[in-house]
Amino acid sequence: MLAHEGKNAGGGPRMSSHPYGDHVALVLDACPEASEADVVAAFRQYEEEFLIPPQDSIHSIIRTLQVNAAPSSGAPAGRASAGKAPRPMKSVERFDQLSGDDQNVEITVRIVSHNVRDQTVRGEQRTIAFGLLEDLPYDSASPSTRWEYKDWAPKQELRSGSIVRLEGASVNEYQGRRSLNVNQSTRVVVLEEGSAPVVAPGEPLSIADLPEAGTVCVVARVLAVRPDVIHRRDGSGTIDVVRGRLADGTGSVGFLSWEPVELEVGQLVKVDGATVRSFRDTPELNFGRTTTIEAYHDASFASADDLESASQLTIAGLRDGARDVTCVVEVHEWQKRTFTREGQERHLWSGRVADPSGQCRMSAWSELPFTADDLPVAVRLSGVRVRAWQGVPDITVDEAKQVEVLKATPWDATIDLENHAVEVALDELANGSGRVGVASEGYVVSVRDDSGLIYRCGECRRVLRDGACTDHGAQEGDEDVRLRLVVQGDAESLSVFVGKDAALTALGLDMDRLRAVIEDEGAGAWVQSLRSRWLGGRVRISGRLLVDDRSSMFMADGFESIEEDGGMIATEARAAWGVA
Ligand SMILES: [Zn+2]
Repeated sequence: MLAHEGKNAGGGPRMSSHPYGDHVALVLDACPEASEADVVAAFRQYEEEFLIPPQDSIHSIIRTLQVNAAPSSGAPAGRASAGKAPRPMKSVERFDQLSGDDQNVEITVRIVSHNVRDQTVRGEQRTIAFGLLEDLPYDSASPSTRWEYKDWAPKQELRSGSIVRLEGASVNEYQGRRSLNVNQSTRVVVLEEGSAPVVAPGEPLSIADLPEAGTVCVVARVLAVRPDVIHRRDGSGTIDVVRGRLADGTGSVGFLSWEPVELEVGQLVKVDGATVRSFRDTPELNFGRTTTIEAYHDASFASADDLESASQLTIAGLRDGARDVTCVVEVHEWQKRTFTREGQERHLWSGRVADPSGQCRMSAWSELPFTADDLPVAVRLSGVRVRAWQGVPDITVDEAKQVEVLKATPWDATIDLENHAVEVALDELANGSGRVGVASEGYVVSVRDDSGLIYRCGECRRVLRDGACTDHGAQEGDEDVRLRLVVQGDAESLSVFVGKDAALTALGLDMDRLRAVIEDEGAGAWVQSLRSRWLGGRVRISGRLLVDDRSSMFMADGFESIEEDGGMIATEARAAWGVA
């Protein structure tokens, strides 16, 4: 904490009446020639004159001191090399190569989004830019990581879609979450101009044609509008915002306004200078200081009712992060749970819902106008939000007024949830987000060695490795059965886990006989026998698809061979996929 005191031994009066201790220590570390008094004065000047806090000014101060020291030092070479070298630029390709206190960073990034807004810093209005950027812009073979950034003195060169090299950016870490600061002294080298379409101001785009990022103009009707509050991540308070939803004949999109706006449901407006940001899988329009919103007149524009019903989503169309969603679902399971949070008793209702496109979970923080006795019940949901766990959507209802009980479903008969598997092509599954209650067909192209008997941790259910759980140590574990396969569609493949009941059914064995067979043949030979039986054969799988950032897994609770001309198909598949 006070390590800098030693470095300053003999260097002027001790400065203790300032709050910049750790930051001063970092500067002196990078610029050993500088005096503590000068550094403190620099921090004070940045903070008091430019309203820039020390964590954001530190990099500028280091650069200024280094630049000043270089030409004018006149020091003998011996002395310079005896001192500590200035902290060199840390050049990295990926965000995960950075640590939370890196101050002088060079990295090439793509600017995913760029927004400008006024922010009050210690009572003064300042303009800052912020958004998302991602690393590895030229490496299409590796997944990019996205970080948020702030540009404290907005630079012309930063635009949505551009690829830039940042020289002298710094890492900001707050509660374990890292972001990048683009400082006043950061050099921005534009390597590629933004490919985000440059739309002529005032030239409206259809909502279906909105780019993933960029500044746009739309003409649309307001379907929903409500005030909301955003909690600053650093805990320094809240920001009042307005959220809602706009629609035109091609689709609908959520919006977030950082400025107060006067909008009414049903109103037709022209919004110019809005920024498109994508939150998780969902694009959203951001309105800021430079966005203009005006009433628009077009007697032939679709009515709010028509747009509302057209913008209704199905369960298959729900995406993580979506807000103000309208959909009709049938509720099949509804339970109330009670728990205590911060000394208060709270209730959460949750259950399963379905429509002809699929099924998912729904949770509500208020009592809804139906009970478990009414099930199944059809409801129209409006203004609800969607979160996803492992890619499987979960609908969140915040208030009872978002739910309207319908007399009947718009589809023919009540859905039979137990046998409600929606057929989806395997390629579509492999490219899509998580789904529950789906079925698909494909060819088995791999049977993994770890198929067969497994042992799960008694506490966390993870599969034991060498008789031990990573978290809960060595133990006997609970016996389970699992098959791991790769199933191929026309172009894509899926990693498939077949659960115990489905595996035993497909094998035509019970637990005791399976144990005996594996013991008799040996685990390796037994897996080999599965290969000769299934490899290249066509199978039908049903269950749920889980998707995270890196992979997708199909958890099959149904698995069956579809007998076709097995031998020929197997030969073809083996030739095509080079499997033994
Ligand atoms: Zn465990």
